[in-house]
Amino acid sequence: MSFGSAAAIPLLVFLVGTWGAAAADAPKKDYPIQPVPFTQVVVSDAFWLPRIETNRTVTIPFIMRKNEETGRVDNFAIAGGLMRGTYKGERYNDTDVYKVIEGAAYSLQVRFDPDLDKSLDGLIVKIAAAQEPDGYLFTARTTDPAHPQPGIGPERWVEENVSHELYNAGHLYEAAAAHFQATGKRTLLDVAVKNADLVARVYGPDKRHGFPGHQGIELALVKLYRVTGNEKYLDLAKYFLDQRGRDVKLTQYPPGNRFAIYNDAEQIQAHKPVFEQAEAVGHAVRAAYMFTGMADVAALTGDAKYLETIERLWENVTGKKMYLTGGIGARHDRERFGDEYELPNLTAYAETCASIGNAFWNHRMFLLTGDAKYLDIMERVIYNGVISGVSLDGNAFFYANPLESDGKFRFNQDRLGRAPYFGTACCPGNISRFLPSFPGYIYAVKDDAFYVNLFVGSSAKIDLRGIPVGIKQETRYPWEGAVKITLLPEREEEFAVFIRLPGWAQNKPVPGDLYRQAEIGDQKIELKVNGKAVDMNRDKGFARIRRIWTKGDTIEILFPMDPRRIAADEAVKDLAGKVAVERGPLVYCAEGADNGGRVLNLELPDGTALVPEWRPDLLKGVVVIKGKARTVTKNADGYIVSRAERDFLAVPYYAWSHRGTGEMAVWIPRK
Ligand SMILES: [Zn+2]
Repeated sequence: MSFGSAAAIPLLVFLVGTWGAAAADAPKKDYPIQPVPFTQVVVSDAFWLPRIETNRTVTIPFIMRKNEETGRVDNFAIAGGLMRGTYKGERYNDTDVYKVIEGAAYSLQVRFDPDLDKSLDGLIVKIAAAQEPDGYLFTARTTDPAHPQPGIGPERWVEENVSHELYNAGHLYEAAAAHFQATGKRTLLDVAVKNADLVARVYGPDKRHGFPGHQGIELALVKLYRVTGNEKYLDLAKYFLDQRGRDVKLTQYPPGNRFAIYNDAEQIQAHKPVFEQAEAVGHAVRAAYMFTGMADVAALTGDAKYLETIERLWENVTGKKMYLTGGIGARHDRERFGDEYELPNLTAYAETCASIGNAFWNHRMFLLTGDAKYLDIMERVIYNGVISGVSLDGNAFFYANPLESDGKFRFNQDRLGRAPYFGTACCPGNISRFLPSFPGYIYAVKDDAFYVNLFVGSSAKIDLRGIPVGIKQETRYPWEGAVKITLLPEREEEFAVFIRLPGWAQNKPVPGDLYRQAEIGDQKIELKVNGKAVDMNRDKGFARIRRIWTKGDTIEILFPMDPRRIAADEAVKDLAGKVAVERGPLVYCAEGADNGGRVLNLELPDGTALVPEWRPDLLKGVVVIKGKARTVTKNADGYIVSRAERDFLAVPYYAWSHRGTGEMAVWIPRK
């Protein structure tokens, strides 16, 4: 199967970035649909702009400071001989520096900041110093090669299932590609290329056989390929995927050793060659990064086996292993997927990184197929399971994102609430790079078709087969359902506009049967062009409007915003007899703070009114949902002895845990 020729213009725009860095030629094959790069999208949205700004002004500087305070930056300086000292922290700590550089680079592209630019230059000097002459860069080894850090093996490349050597390299490449695009400087890119060239000399069909224990380098090599045009990096990405599950040699640690968790091939998705995998198993972040890398390789090679495999795995994840928030990975134990339909609430893991990986993956599935069902999942996970991972002030984080709290179980790396940073700090850095790139998820183009994927106040300039078209989107989404899009083509021209029709607005919260609407409402989406209702022309989950567009033409969409009750497949025993409340794309939860201190004793009977109310004073402005619930009192034997009606108030899930610790529940018994 071939995906046809690339849409060269937007890709070029993506590669060139704001300051005109030289770009490689567009790949011969690519995603048939191209995202409108975030550099071409200006977000003015009341919901998203404050988040992106908080990320720029608080989260990124905060993480950079934490990386300094915890020795993560010094590790590079020590490895590079710029200072004396010993390695501090976990063997993958280099990635926390790389990830925040990537986030900072995206931020620079959106809004240039000379101080930030300069502090990146300073970090890059230390990173470059830590690189060994042949390109090797892994401070956990280089700081003291005679005494390598635990888990990385006595010499290079011998313990990939545990070491994170290649995982670290992947985040270096992603940071380098972003920094080059943002600034046009080759400083970090040269370091990345030198390292990738070493990895390509070491690994390959006729060389050392192996693959990373923690995926990520595959999608990163694809980014390096896009930036440099060197096909060797794409070949290496494909090699690592194809080699996975073949000639597997796992270092076996004795039982009880902290690395014994890697004795298991399933943990790292190496139990079978990737094309034979049909169930998502093992470490959820690794899996999501792998599926994302497979989508990239599918797009860039046209190899249909990859797409068939990730479609099969997507059915499995979406149909049997995904939380309502879009979170994946049910178990704290080894950060793994659970069995099918194993979706506990209190002990849900749903790592922030896994949610980000799920967003990456679903976005790419859409770009491959043009099907809006993937965007339904992408939107769900971004608005719920991703942004829950950072506090509203931008300086406290969730690693795990449970759907219930009893106020006792310390779900967040041994904390009960949000944490300022972590020993293993993958999640904060991941948030810091996701948010500034978020505008790149809103729009896409294919030939003379223009896709509106997300509803976000923004404007963009796109190029449809040589026709410059401006777009302006105005909305109070996700709080209100009205969206107005104004088209500003430079001249009168025929083209198609695809408007996503979210499943949640059509009684279908998710593709598949894992979650369904408990009560089928009279939901209807209204669509108007220049004030007149038009036919939806439904096409893969979009309304397709093809016509001759004139400057100032408008598309108005009105989504039904009544609160909805969601029920789960009976096979999920932890959700049996329970409902969750949603409104628009948001999942809601009840917190003790709003419900008399307790929520795990509540019932939410069917059929009672649920009323939305805008509360500008609460949690930086949210629509709450109010209604009547019942509190249930049980005796010592667990028998219900009384029920009493009480007021019920739910807040958006992403905003929970800002008012102390206590009970929280997304799923509430119906009776
Ligand atoms: Zn993480």
